[in-house]
Amino acid sequence: MSNRTFTMIKPDAMKNGHAGAIIDRFIKEGFRIVALKQTKLSEEKAGEFYAVHRERPFYGELVEFMSSGVIVAAILEKENAVAAFRELIGATNPAQAAEGTIRKLYATSIGENAVHGSDSDENAKIEGSFFFSGLEQF
Ligand code: GDP
Repeated sequence: MSNRTFTMIKPDAMKNGHAGAIIDRFIKEGFRIVALKQTKLSEEKAGEFYAVHRERPFYGELVEFMSSGVIVAAILEKENAVAAFRELIGATNPAQAAEGTIRKLYATSIGENAVHGSDSDENAKIEGSFFFSGLEQF
């Protein structure tokens, strides 16, 4: 089992001023920051990142949203990181997310849902290296 996951603070949470509170929550929940940066995805890069969703009806909307503003990308470390982080962020749709989860607290809608969290160890590795070189991970 890998102990790393990848996350993005999405443009809605950035615009709404929640980045500081969200990063603070990562740390308070015991995730160690391995890599962290603010960046902005072009439409092309957002399309590439979410290529697995290409056939889904919301793909165009997702790519447009994810390239609409700056994001914060991070690699986080904790025992059983992928599952622990998915629990911390809550369900995709904030209306169905458990009380106290990041999406319940900060998400706007099912599409504009504040944070991304990898869904497997394999994807955590792929997604982390999409944004960070080995020299940026500590
Ligand atoms: P996640 O793993 O919880 O992020 O959810 P998914 O992998 O199913 O979807 C990826 C992302 O696509 C979600 O985090 C949302 O930003 C977006 N998304 C998922 N479902 C919908 C939807 O029904 N409508 C819209 N507009 N966006 C969606």
